[in-house]
Amino acid sequence: MIPFFNISEKIEKASDKALKLCKEQFEYIDEITEFNQLKVQKAFIEYGVSESHFTPTTGYGYNDRGRDTLDKVWAKVLGAEDALVRHNFTCGTHTLATALFGVLRPGDNILCVTGTPYDTIHNVIGISGENMGSLKDFGINYSEVPLKNEHLDYDAIENAIDNDVTMVYIQRSRGYELRPSLSVDEIERVCKTVKGKNPNVIVMVDNCYGEFVEKREPTEAGADLIAGSMIKNAGGGIAVTGGYIAGKKDLVEKCAYRLTTPGLGREVGASLGHNRELFMGLFYAPHTVGEALKSAVFISALFEGFGYDVTPKFNEVRHDIVQSLGLENAESLVAFCQGIQSGSPIDSYVLPEPWDMPGYDSRVVMAAGAFTLGSSIELSADAPIREPYYAWIQGGLNFHSAKICALLAAQQMEDRGLLK
Ligand SMILES: *Cc1c(COP(=O)(O)O)cnc(C)c1O
Repeated sequence: MIPFFNISEKIEKASDKALKLCKEQFEYIDEITEFNQLKVQKAFIEYGVSESHFTPTTGYGYNDRGRDTLDKVWAKVLGAEDALVRHNFTCGTHTLATALFGVLRPGDNILCVTGTPYDTIHNVIGISGENMGSLKDFGINYSEVPLKNEHLDYDAIENAIDNDVTMVYIQRSRGYELRPSLSVDEIERVCKTVKGKNPNVIVMVDNCYGEFVEKREPTEAGADLIAGSMIKNAGGGIAVTGGYIAGKKDLVEKCAYRLTTPGLGREVGASLGHNRELFMGLFYAPHTVGEALKSAVFISALFEGFGYDVTPKFNEVRHDIVQSLGLENAESLVAFCQGIQSGSPIDSYVLPEPWDMPGYDSRVVMAAGAFTLGSSIELSADAPIREPYYAWIQGGLNFHSAKICALLAAQQMEDRGLLK
């Protein structure tokens, strides 16, 4: 019997069965977690991280040893020449935009090779929105190579590269699509394909949701510049805000000039006491990502067991932490999200309802009961109320907590006569 919560016998049995199926994947995840934990630990030791690095700076933040050491540690972990980890990146989109505006100049051409990027990047590029100061407004041209049967189209990518392409942009995670996420091996192949035709192209990767899912990061596989959010994988559930950019030294330097100002760059920026959380978050990140992956694998096995369409399947190799479930109708999406919310440590009493979210063409229901507002390394679920009625789930600070949320989600569906 599951203590403290009311879970039906049917769901409890399904849970036990799912857990058994997950065993092999869990062992594989543990192996990756351990590898990445040692990688992180070695970097902390190499740069002599000490308590003094947690001391807050104020004002201009000149000579903030903690901030500067954090950059070095993160660069080392990513196998990159340089990195910028900053609490003043407000979110992943801001971080990605800083990187794009940092390195691109008027007349440059950016080519996205993973189809149309994540929704919030559209306004940054200028494929939607007007008069916002997008890349397009600054004379930077955008084009894309669509995916072919949900996979990279290497031939089309090769054909699209000429001497005019300045940057190739890759989105590693599936975001809110049903396509598979990209492996670091696939990213490596894109880098080789692109640079074989034009070695001057900058390959940039949106690394959101990908950090520590594999043993290698894109910066170890030929990517010149990567960026991500600290309230997703890289912050380990501890960082309360921020983002990072990493890659080639000259490019990261340019990004620093965009983050603050030309000339000042990375020399300024008071850390205000955020260094400890950013260090601790980075230290926890491999483990937390492992927990999130186990949560996703379990949810996949559980709901596949009930007869729902799931991607990825529990035994598929993963390259990001996102799980999607085809729940078949609007009522099930709502019940699922309400069930997840009801088990969350924070805001469990809140009842998520579908609403008209700005930027979406259908209503969306979301579950998020998180210590950090909007953190999606914590268990969260989003579902646009439209065909094909999929819910996207990601995160889970610890597996046991995410597991009970998943069972409560199934229970909500069963209570309403919706569970298959
Ligand atoms: C989350 C995410 C972003 C944007 O990050 P925000 O923090 O939501 O602004 C961009 N790309 C991908 C693939 C993401 O998952």
